[in-house]
Amino acid sequence: MNIHEYQSKEILKGYGVTIQEGIVADTPEAAAAAAKELNAKTGTEWYVVKAQIHAGGRGKGTVNETGSHGVVLAKSLDEVPAKAKDILNGTLVTHQTGPEGKTVNKVLIAQDVYYPGESDPKEFYLSILLDRAKGCNVIMASTEGGMDIETVAENTPEKIIKEWIDPAVGLQGFQARKVAFALGLEGEAFKGMVKFIFSLYKAYLGTDSSMFEINPVLKTSDNKILAVDAKVDLDDNALFRHKDLAELRDLSEEDPAEVEAAQSGLNYVKLDGNVGCMVNGAGLAMATMDIIKLSGGEPANFLDVGGSANAQTVEAGFRIIMKDPNVKAILINIFGGIVRCDRVANGVVEAYKNIGEINIPIIVRLQGTNAEEGAKIIEESGLKVYSAIVLKDAAAKVKELI
Ligand code: GDP
Ligand code: MN
Repeated sequence: MNIHEYQSKEILKGYGVTIQEGIVADTPEAAAAAAKELNAKTGTEWYVVKAQIHAGGRGKGTVNETGSHGVVLAKSLDEVPAKAKDILNGTLVTHQTGPEGKTVNKVLIAQDVYYPGESDPKEFYLSILLDRAKGCNVIMASTEGGMDIETVAENTPEKIIKEWIDPAVGLQGFQARKVAFALGLEGEAFKGMVKFIFSLYKAYLGTDSSMFEINPVLKTSDNKILAVDAKVDLDDNALFRHKDLAELRDLSEEDPAEVEAAQSGLNYVKLDGNVGCMVNGAGLAMATMDIIKLSGGEPANFLDVGGSANAQTVEAGFRIIMKDPNVKAILINIFGGIVRCDRVANGVVEAYKNIGEINIPIIVRLQGTNAEEGAKIIEESGLKVYSAIVLKDAAAKVKELI
């Protein structure tokens, strides 16, 4: 589960990670008030207005309606509301959002931390994630902060430092020092970075996260180490033991059909083809998508209704698939192992009647326990549903109908 930058920073702060302070706002007036509060708290006179969306690249991204970037600097309190207005409710397009962009509902008003001083501010990259191949967490760091890490990895892989953490002994002092040293730090900044890495690792473990990415981590001109950006990816499978974190979920950032599917216990991924499909079992679902392509169609989705398909799950699946206007036909492919085909067939007929007005052809392929009985129920229903027992026939039917 992804969360916003301002939420990520709150979590980090709770674990003692030093951050660029900020206050979230959803109107230009609230932005002005936030800036005032921030001024009282930190003494800052310059502010950064940052769009809060679940995507990176905001600094270089553009708001369609106003041409503003997604991260902008305000050099006085008075500039803050207008700059917030240029971003709020706009559509921000970045290299991570796709051309359709994302609507900005909130902005983070943050203190400016790039002020001049005895040395230049310096941006670093720091992340912690699970290395599945090695079966342990890895800390990745780079002197090339603020840049797209994929680009760094491709062009100058030697500039990425990796430090693997032994799960039995945890993060060791020498490892944090090794990273800070490799980043070229010394004195106060070196100590600050070591502390930063330890707090960050504690936060990563404490929240059961699957990824933390701080890009950039800033060494300020007076040698403080701060998280300027924060991307936290929480492990969905651990949310049951983090009720407070589960509440940070922002459904407006997620695909509505995928949200509805998750609520009905279905595994649904929207794709951009023309043949919807509903299948029991992930492997069979993938094979079904291949069959759709083979017969000249393009899958409109991946949908696994799980091992025990019944009338309710079939109906929920139908409704979700039919929300997609691109769908020209639906292929239901169920293998009756534990579930009986006649039960599924009844479920399909019942769901069809409940939904009403389905004006696209539906092909139902039932195989396994009671397949013949299932096919009979479909054929005798009088509905615009085609039955097939053999997958080859189902594919031929898809081809004919699209
Ligand atoms: P992203 O573009 O979505 O990754 O957003 P970031 O939070 O990483 O911010 C993008 C860029 O904005 C940073 O790399 C900085 O160059 C700039 N920025 C962020 N905070 C400040 C600040 O306090 N002052 C100034 N001058 N620039 C900042
Ligand atoms: Mn960033």
